[in-house]
Amino acid sequence: MMTSNEIRKKFLDFFQSKGHTIVPSAPMVVKNDPTLMFTNAGMNQFKDIFLGNAEKKYNRAADTQKCLRVSGKHNDLEEVGHDTYHHTMFEMLGNWSFGDYFKKEAIDWAWELLTEVYEMPKDRLYATVFEGSPEDGVPMDQEAFDLWKQYLPEDHIILGNKHDNFWEMGETGPCGPCSEIHFDLRSEEERAAKPGSEMVNMGHHLVIEIWNLVFMQFNRKANGSLEPLPHKHIDTGMGFERLCMVLQNKQSNYDTDVFSTRIAEIAALSGKRYGEDEKADVAMRVIADHLRTISFSIADGQLPSNVKAGYVIRRILRRAVRYGYTYLGFNEPFICKLVPGLVEQMGEQFPELKAQQSLIVSVICEEETAFLKTLATGINLLEGVMNKSRAASKSVIDGKSAFTLYDTYGFPIDLTELIARENGMSVDLEAFDVELQAQKARSRNAAAVENDDWVELVAGANTEFVGYDNLTAEVKIVRYRRVTTKGKTLYQLVFDRTPFYANSGGQVGDKGTISADGKTLDVVDTIKENGLPIHIVNELPENVEATFTAVVDEESRLASARHHSVTHLMHKSLRDILGSHVEQKGSLVCPEYLRFDFSHFQKVSDEELRQVEKAVNRMIRANYALDERRECSIEEAQKAGAMMLFGEKYGDKVRMIRFGESVELCGGTHVSATGVIGQFKIVAESAISAGVRRIEAVAGGVAEEAGYKTEETLKEIQKTVGSPVLLQAIRKMMEDNAELRKEIESFRAEKAKAVAAEIGKMIDGQKVISKIVDMPVDMVKDAVYALRTANPDVAIVLGSREGGKPMLAVAVGDNLVKAGVKAGDVVRTAAKEMQGGGGGQPFYATAGGKNPEGLEKAIAVAEEMILSAVGK
Ligand code: ATP
Ligand code: MG
Repeated sequence: MMTSNEIRKKFLDFFQSKGHTIVPSAPMVVKNDPTLMFTNAGMNQFKDIFLGNAEKKYNRAADTQKCLRVSGKHNDLEEVGHDTYHHTMFEMLGNWSFGDYFKKEAIDWAWELLTEVYEMPKDRLYATVFEGSPEDGVPMDQEAFDLWKQYLPEDHIILGNKHDNFWEMGETGPCGPCSEIHFDLRSEEERAAKPGSEMVNMGHHLVIEIWNLVFMQFNRKANGSLEPLPHKHIDTGMGFERLCMVLQNKQSNYDTDVFSTRIAEIAALSGKRYGEDEKADVAMRVIADHLRTISFSIADGQLPSNVKAGYVIRRILRRAVRYGYTYLGFNEPFICKLVPGLVEQMGEQFPELKAQQSLIVSVICEEETAFLKTLATGINLLEGVMNKSRAASKSVIDGKSAFTLYDTYGFPIDLTELIARENGMSVDLEAFDVELQAQKARSRNAAAVENDDWVELVAGANTEFVGYDNLTAEVKIVRYRRVTTKGKTLYQLVFDRTPFYANSGGQVGDKGTISADGKTLDVVDTIKENGLPIHIVNELPENVEATFTAVVDEESRLASARHHSVTHLMHKSLRDILGSHVEQKGSLVCPEYLRFDFSHFQKVSDEELRQVEKAVNRMIRANYALDERRECSIEEAQKAGAMMLFGEKYGDKVRMIRFGESVELCGGTHVSATGVIGQFKIVAESAISAGVRRIEAVAGGVAEEAGYKTEETLKEIQKTVGSPVLLQAIRKMMEDNAELRKEIESFRAEKAKAVAAEIGKMIDGQKVISKIVDMPVDMVKDAVYALRTANPDVAIVLGSREGGKPMLAVAVGDNLVKAGVKAGDVVRTAAKEMQGGGGGQPFYATAGGKNPEGLEKAIAVAEEMILSAVGK
């Protein structure tokens, strides 16, 4: 039997022999692309080439790509675990032609690989072909049909509709018909009973799609129409895990060697056996699958968090925990225990996994621990809800509570239903759905963006970036479009050349102006989309064909550059001082400050932070000149000791930035020499998750200002204290203060006694005694309490307006309590007269309020209530 590693290798070797360049997988987590969070198909990393925004480096390529389908257009999450052939993360094997070969070679080679190299039985293979679409004016794909006819009998070639056989990158952009290859894994009897051709694309787990060959030949425009592409491309994707199932003759992806060891480990940990109970089986599959997604995501630098991609990962992790908790009885962290086995299996092909094993384990462990706690809280909450329903003789859990559990505690509705059912109850699913739809509508509205088609002024032009050397340039618009977000209209401009740095690599985009014909427009931001720098302006220039003078705001660019260069120096110092386990996990560089996240397992001490500051400032004073190499080969950079980051996509040519001993691969803008940074100051250090710390720091003028601020605060204190020897003066003040406080306490105690004595004298047969005192009522508490004990037939009502705030206290003797007086109720009602509230025991209660004018009235109400309670 071929192992999965052999199967992968054979694919790559085969296409290499057909003149393809083998390229590495792009990171699974997509950075610097606002249109996509995760790589969901092999073609993503070549998107810029298909869109014509980037030069192609080769005509043919092949690879295995880490894909994740859990959000957006492709979302298989709910299937995963329940079926046996959809994963969240999977490897997609692919071969590409960029304007080179087309349908013939794509189909011939697919057939050759499957039947000759892999020796698949031909009679179990089926191919689908696009049936055509009159509304789009696209005829049936006769060419593909005829090509398949060389190999397959006609009843193994099936016509498919737009849904299955027309592939589109998005709402707009490159698209074309596709041809899928399916395999029938059923037994001889089943196949004899019903032909495979009737089972294709019917959702049967043994008749499955393994490979999709996409023939990109059209471009879809915003108005929905299609135009032919000038260059036709081939884009194919074959699910690696499904291929292994076919070649290893299994009936489930999870029975192949890609997953079987993991499933065995999970079974052993839970003390259950795989294949005995469907629910436990689903849970084991979910965990085996999600483990890969979470681990690879962390290795790519995307940690679980509360926003965006991080939140998607957190939810996946929680889904695995939940299945393990509910169906396998895990109530302490278990996913983290599976990491070593996964690393052993996949670490060879994906070294990023091996290198970051300890980070992956600690992050998962912390997340699991936290979520198990949340689960327990949620279950308590649900019990509360069920008790309430029972008390009201209802057996339905209301939709709102179910939604809160879902939204806040990560309880999917089926878990709530399950627990409800176990308790003989049900859930109001309709009401739950109403809440869910309302929330979806809210987030849809928040995210609604409308893009017009690009208006092309110069066809197929790319942007030359001149901003490393120039802050101004003469530019022309090559394309523009209108964009409407949340009702606001903006324009996006693309230039033939630009001095504006577009947001990427953590550094924010430049701002500035463009002018022509005496009119100047503000460029409010520069972003990067599909590899193109896009300039955002509030209105469209009158003459879009003019030549514009583009000017970058120099001050903010320089401030960003200072923060970027100093980030490199700090990264180097952190590694020198804390150790080489420090790896960048995220960064933000803007004119105001820098933020840097990195792996490190404990708090960075004040002393270490000071050491880092000193080291960085030393490098600033050394005034290392910028040594910039724009077209460095990746090998050279490696030799020079440049730090490479996991989860980053590097081309063959990289830009290397060196300041003294700090060497990094970086596309950002930098200062000409470290002296320009001026000074460096760390302002905060914190944890952002297990094993990841965050430092915020400032440089240059911002650091100088920070220094002034501290100095001014000190001077201010000095002035107030009136002594230059600050520490000594403050210590003296604190001692004096403590002494004075003691004295006041004893004075007040004396006074309280005197007040109590006065009240004591007032007791003379009546049921209620009232008095307004000139100190906070709780200070008299002990004395009044003693009076209450000594006089079981009296209630005492005290009021005060100390510090302008009305207060009320009521103490009730035991006999009156027995007679039904409740001090708590009394103050609660009485306090309304002074716009306040309070409460307490039946024998003693206090209240505060906002309106001192109402105090007398409140006392009167209290007296009245007490008297009426004792029936007088
Ligand atoms: P399906 O209809 O089975 O979901 P698809 O039409 O979404 O497949 P494509 O987008 O064409 O699939 O992806 C190409 C190949 O990737 C498929 O032929 C299949 O082998 C594999 N594939 C797709 N989605 C998954 C997944 N969630 N898990 C594993 N493999 C997948
Ligand atoms: Mg799919």
